[in-house]
Amino acid sequence: MSKRLAEMMKERTLLSFEVFPPKTDKGLDKLEECLEHLYAFRPDYVSCTYGAGGTNVGKNMDVCKMIRKADNDTVPVTHFTCIGNTKEEIKEKLQNYLDNGIDHMLAVRGDLPEGWSGTGGDFSYATDLVSYVRKEFGDKFEIAVAGSPEGHIACRTLEADIAHLKQKQDEGADYIMTQLTFDMEQFKYWLDAIRSAGITMPVDVGVMPVLNRESVINMCLSRNGCAIPRKLAEVISHHWFDVDENGNKRQDVLDAFREEGIEYTVDQILQYMALGVDGIHLYALNTWKNSTEILNKAGIRSVV
Ligand code: FAD
Repeated sequence: MSKRLAEMMKERTLLSFEVFPPKTDKGLDKLEECLEHLYAFRPDYVSCTYGAGGTNVGKNMDVCKMIRKADNDTVPVTHFTCIGNTKEEIKEKLQNYLDNGIDHMLAVRGDLPEGWSGTGGDFSYATDLVSYVRKEFGDKFEIAVAGSPEGHIACRTLEADIAHLKQKQDEGADYIMTQLTFDMEQFKYWLDAIRSAGITMPVDVGVMPVLNRESVINMCLSRNGCAIPRKLAEVISHHWFDVDENGNKRQDVLDAFREEGIEYTVDQILQYMALGVDGIHLYALNTWKNSTEILNKAGIRSVV
């Protein structure tokens, strides 16, 4: 095992980025360039999504290998899902990751492809995946799991969702990566609630930058049912009228949205730090300028 991120989180707040696998070689080159900029922040790890939104896995392995071979201490973390995977396939694919030196994973159920009612694989839940990975691979992987501060959309109550998160810990998960939330009060409530429920895993907070109206609305509502709190609703309202008389988008309005959105994101990060979270996991969305501006404004590992 290269490094134990959960152990490191006991010592300090980690910084990490999340990227997604590009579809083409050109996209892969662009991502490599983007990562070169992000490495300036000395991220402890970079995670790469796996088939998010029900799309295929694409170049996930190439991205993980690219991070691993970079000349620094950044650990690659692959996301891995239950979607369409039999036990045998899971074993084979995970062995392939290990053979390539990738021994950190985020074990999630996976986004169900449109029209599917189940995973189409041997496991229905992330709990089963964690249990299986521990059974087949022992401690060879460090395993992160997803936690939803607002409760997973399919779960009847927040308490039941927290009980399932506790189950992931009991099955051997090492730390939590959270689903995006823009609602700090809900986050604080959830953090207290998981600790009261006996969940001791470190909490690495997923931070979705607020950059434009469409993506905020899409991120909140397309799958996760996340709330848009009043303060964020104000950011959206301040810059709602973004089309000129010819029907073209107004760049000045888009820029003003981005500026206020970045302030919102920086404020969220500062609040998370004040709460003593174990990690800041910034969704880089395969670009570097936004992340650089956000982290420099937040004063996190500023790049001189
Ligand atoms: P689970 O923990 O399996 O939970 C799903 C639902 O079932 C919840 O309502 C839960 O309460 C309930 N549940 C859990 N265990 C049990 C049980 N044993 N019995 C009964 N009910 C149970 N998706 C992708 O496809 N690819 C990615 O790369 C990806 N990356 C992600 C990264 C992060 C940080 C996060 C937070 C999510 C990511 N997702 C990704 C999305 C994730 O797959 C979805 O949110 C999915 O809907 C739930 O995943 P989960 O692991 O939380 O599921």
